[in-house]
Amino acid sequence: MGIFNFFDLTHEIAIDLGTANTLIVYKDRVVVDEPSIVAINRTTNKVIAVGKRAMQMHEKTHENIKTIRPLKDGVIADFGASEQMIRELVRTIPNLKSRFFSPSLRMVICIPSGITQVEERAVKDSAEQIGAKEVYLIHEPMAAAIGIGIDVLEPKGNMIIDIGGGTTEIAVLALGGIVCDKSIKVAGDVFTSDIVYYMRTQHNLFVGERTAEKIKIHVGSAVEELETPPEDYPVQGRDLMTGKPKQITVSSKEIAKALNKSIIQVEDAVMQALAMTPPELAADIYNTGIYLAGGGSMLRGLDDRISKKTELPVYVAEDPLRAVVRGTGIALKNIESFSFLMK
Ligand code: ADP
Ligand code: MG
Repeated sequence: MGIFNFFDLTHEIAIDLGTANTLIVYKDRVVVDEPSIVAINRTTNKVIAVGKRAMQMHEKTHENIKTIRPLKDGVIADFGASEQMIRELVRTIPNLKSRFFSPSLRMVICIPSGITQVEERAVKDSAEQIGAKEVYLIHEPMAAAIGIGIDVLEPKGNMIIDIGGGTTEIAVLALGGIVCDKSIKVAGDVFTSDIVYYMRTQHNLFVGERTAEKIKIHVGSAVEELETPPEDYPVQGRDLMTGKPKQITVSSKEIAKALNKSIIQVEDAVMQALAMTPPELAADIYNTGIYLAGGGSMLRGLDDRISKKTELPVYVAEDPLRAVVRGTGIALKNIESFSFLMK
């Protein structure tokens, strides 16, 4: 084994370039798991921080610093910032540094399905810029399905719903291809802004994006009545009437109300995707059910709600935030059998 490793000079990394989080697998391990965000000095245009460190600065910046989420709505809003982000994150991989310019760095990058060909080209160029000699792109629902453990090459239909930060992607896969898909820009970020709006309109409390995300994680719910509801959660923000900082307490029931409209949009998209599915594949989905992945799928009660709406069994992937990068890593390791899934 050692001898083979010694001669194997190819370095391979799998990247999940998500709208909310970027993850990297190297040697079968997740070595990077950071929010997709960059902090930039406005005067010099230099990157000050990426990932968690940049996130700490988010919404707390002064005029010299700005934070950018380069992939915010499932499109690449800022090519330069996204390249810098990938470069900095790849740089942090332990043991890869010394061989950074090795002639054989291979990358598989998972991209949101909504991005255009121009954006795909830009991602490939960025990867080459930072030293990759071979770059493959794989679409998110395909990577999610592989990560969940579905045999995507089978002549059998499977439905995957990946709820990320910027987009919810619903896809029916069979025979190694995407048969039909539907992508909507209603996902975790919209749930978060629904909470900001709710706090402002119902409690006269102004909260930031990060506070709203914490509320979502602590007491977020897709249904008003949960079997085991989480404890009410204290929230601090600025009172819109008095201007003073203030604290209130919110319950999962309230947040379910705040999110209801957006959840209906997700349900409608799922119903539309089911209606587009060819009958033989619909029959398969009837038997196998629907799989959920992505951080948004961790919202309490969302699986039950989709299950009720579709009258189908719904399964949430194990470790849904990592299903996509796991699948991208598997595609990388089995590049021969999966190469036709990639571009
Ligand atoms: P992307 O692939 O777009 O980067 P992810 O799959 O990493 O997205 O999911 C990120 C989203 O998941 C964010 O909007 C985040 O707020 C949300 N999220 C993470 N954990 C939870 C949770 N426990 N409950 C609800 N939403 C969550
Ligand atoms: Mg994702």
